[in-house]
Amino acid sequence: MCLFPEQFNNKIEGITGNRIFRLNLNGERNRYQLSIFNAMKNNRREFIKKSLIGVSGAALVPGSYNSLTGFADAPTAPELPGRVLGKTGIKTPLISLGAAETTEPAFVKAAYGEGIKIFFSATYYGEGKNEKLVGDGLKNLPRDSFVVGTAAPPDGLDNRTGLFVRTFDPVAYIRKAEESLSRFGLDYVDIFLFPYAGKKGTVQHEGVLKAMTQLKKQGKTRFTGIASHSDTEEALRAAADSGIYDVAMISYNFKIKNKDSLDAAIAYAAKAGMGIVAMKTTAGVFRNKSGPALNSDAALKWVLQNENIASIVSGMSSLEQLQKNLAMIKNLKLTEKELMDLKQASVDSEPGLYCQQCKQCIPQCPYNLDIPGIMRSYMYAYGYKNTSQAWYTLEGANLPLKPCDSCEICKVKCLNRFDIKKRITDIARIKEIPKEFLTV
Ligand code: SF4
Ligand code: SF4
Repeated sequence: MCLFPEQFNNKIEGITGNRIFRLNLNGERNRYQLSIFNAMKNNRREFIKKSLIGVSGAALVPGSYNSLTGFADAPTAPELPGRVLGKTGIKTPLISLGAAETTEPAFVKAAYGEGIKIFFSATYYGEGKNEKLVGDGLKNLPRDSFVVGTAAPPDGLDNRTGLFVRTFDPVAYIRKAEESLSRFGLDYVDIFLFPYAGKKGTVQHEGVLKAMTQLKKQGKTRFTGIASHSDTEEALRAAADSGIYDVAMISYNFKIKNKDSLDAAIAYAAKAGMGIVAMKTTAGVFRNKSGPALNSDAALKWVLQNENIASIVSGMSSLEQLQKNLAMIKNLKLTEKELMDLKQASVDSEPGLYCQQCKQCIPQCPYNLDIPGIMRSYMYAYGYKNTSQAWYTLEGANLPLKPCDSCEICKVKCLNRFDIKKRITDIARIKEIPKEFLTV
């Protein structure tokens, strides 16, 4: 399914809020495709409503749900299979909630009622609205019964090099954390993450370490950490050596091509006491842009075979997904069928949606495009169906207008064998979409 209008010419499409937007539509067909956005939005809301109030809501935790609202009333969370998150000492279930795709506070509360303990958001999810949503979901629950984590990207970091291009300002960064607290409606968060961590010089940057130390001292966070998509091995070792960070959130899935060296870096950080949580664990959710979904149980079990991973940060938005994940963690043994599914999805002829973030492509492109960032955006759109995150990720990549038009042939050879020009041209169109039509 195409997520956004396929072609653009000049035609006024309509009025959204107080804006008239001019979408370059190509007759009826694209009008129909645009309507998919509304349908996706409405279907999702409807689905969540049904799954919370209807069948599953009633069947989930007898006694812990209000029969009128279908939502958890009391903290009667069941004990789930879990591990300890390094030196934080937090005992966490093997599944945590990554709230990027969550659209309802009631779902957050329902997840809590099911035994989920850690809830991750980020300042850039929905321009802060997601933090508010998580805070609303956890409102009035005993503060020591849940763990909230968030991430705030620093200003002036060039994602292509992983280095600062502007002076890092610890005071401004601390202010960002304070704004997060206010959106959550909390006095403190439990885990404050420095995202897009990669290079040692950035992870151990004097100003960053100062800000993280201050945040802890001021009681605005209990623990600090990094989140890393790329240069992760370097980031893990640097974070561990600094002695300042307690937690690392890293990309980890069955598609990664550097498993042995990444496992060694994970073990190094874990030995130093860092608690490790994994993201991007389903490798893009779908086998390709329009293909079937990957076997998510198999993908998640694969991640949890590494005992240094304390918990998976799973992007969930429905009780159906939550229940599926909770059933999965009861038995981590991979079945023959699951192993076969992973093998099939790993063959070279199936590049999939997950970009290795290896950055090998960047120096090959004469325009120095942030291709790894753009490929993440592509995965958010076509894998997670999260066009909002795709939009913001693309914005972070500073994509020029008509990015690949100057090249007749793309010069980039991708490690994953992605058709880079085709994917960039495809995802670049998302910038044309009015924000009102973005999902999640
Ligand atoms: S070479 Fe391919 S896999 Fe590696 S970062 Fe670039 S797009 Fe991603
Ligand atoms: S087609 Fe795009 S990605 Fe490929 S080399 Fe040209 S500008 Fe770079």
